[in-house]
Amino acid sequence: MSLQGAETKKLFERAAKVIPHGVNSNFRDWGPKDTLVVTRAEGAYLWDADGKRYIDYRLGFGPIILGHSYPQVVEKVSEAIRRGTTPAWTTPLEIEVAERICRMCGVDKVRLANSGTEATMHALRIARAHTGREKFIKFEGQYHGMVDYFMFSTAGTSTADLEQAGEPANVRKSKGIPDAIRDYVVNLPFNDLERVARELESNGHQIAAIFVEPIMGNVASIMPAEGWLEGLRALCDEHGVVLVFDEVKTGFRVANGGAQELFGVRADLVTYAKALGNGFPIAAVAGKDEIMMNIGPGETAHGGTYSGNSVGVAAASATLELLENEPIIETIRQRGHLLMSGIGEVFSDAGIPHALSGVPAMFGISLGLDRAPTDLRSYNKSDEQLYERIGMKLSELGVQPDADGREPWFLSYSHSEADVTETLSALETAIKEVKH
Ligand code: PLP
Repeated sequence: MSLQGAETKKLFERAAKVIPHGVNSNFRDWGPKDTLVVTRAEGAYLWDADGKRYIDYRLGFGPIILGHSYPQVVEKVSEAIRRGTTPAWTTPLEIEVAERICRMCGVDKVRLANSGTEATMHALRIARAHTGREKFIKFEGQYHGMVDYFMFSTAGTSTADLEQAGEPANVRKSKGIPDAIRDYVVNLPFNDLERVARELESNGHQIAAIFVEPIMGNVASIMPAEGWLEGLRALCDEHGVVLVFDEVKTGFRVANGGAQELFGVRADLVTYAKALGNGFPIAAVAGKDEIMMNIGPGETAHGGTYSGNSVGVAAASATLELLENEPIIETIRQRGHLLMSGIGEVFSDAGIPHALSGVPAMFGISLGLDRAPTDLRSYNKSDEQLYERIGMKLSELGVQPDADGREPWFLSYSHSEADVTETLSALETAIKEVKH
């Protein structure tokens, strides 16, 4: 069985001749038989080149918070394009977007960028400049973008590899990264505050920043344990370390003010991308005045030809205006609850042990576990093969979460209760067929 119909197959073969593996991101590579070519995305749906419709729960890996090609966003972007995209001066729309981010997220200052990778790269540099220190802590399974420094022990790292690496468990996740970079990063287990405290007691004077995804958006939406984020906040204060919340996935998704609002903990720097632009390329590094003001000519570098370009900025302006004025997060929360509890029931009825983690706007399912995982190593004990088989079967049936169980199910404002009902019925069928 292949997900590709005749037209999709033909296009994919053309793609693979000129684009490595036929995709412009390794994360989109489902292999030569199942990688799709998509011709349209609207609301909660995607259509492939054969006209097959999918209810989309990947949502571009998270950015689509309103729905694909959302009319007000498309309208505002079109209008902005007609007025010129890259004047290389500040525009009124940039000011408005920065003001909205400050108001919604409780930050003092914002610099714009184009991707999550850029935002986290800048956050790391700013934290180093602020502290005069060079190392940083991140957590096993966390992904902060394609920058060399972050590409250690990301989500797909096996427990065997982590164990072999020893402590800290720095497993290099790409060729082409100088081995010496390993010395700058300290990978520790998520949710283990005592381990972080020990690290800072011994090496705090060398640590510029702690980077944390408040919810593990790259490992089944694992939740922060009670006191974890508060504890990181206190330890950072004690040791003069910059606390960075990587809110590339949680920002403008789990609450209007992101995870800072949801959990009531303030970071020093925060990175945003994805839902900020509902699918248009825009990102931001934001935070406290005294830390952000390290940025400046001759001081700490930040720049980019397309930083603040009118396309991304107009998309952010429209998206944030809608978020501030319509019950978007609340609607997603209600529908997501229906979906999560329905999924739980379907797996229970099928006698498959499972644990749901995360929040309705982005949640994960770990099969074969009866308790929600708390870190990468506990997630790695789940039955990933079974998840993938069910996920592939769902795609055959026109419902598309990512087949990789680490990637959350994302919901948008455009997913209706009817979509939830269709999804649950497809899940029942998928499980029956996989069991068969
Ligand atoms: N940070 C987190 C938490 C992410 O999940 C991602 C991407 O998925 C990034 C950073 C990188 O963002 P981008 O793909 O826009 O470069």
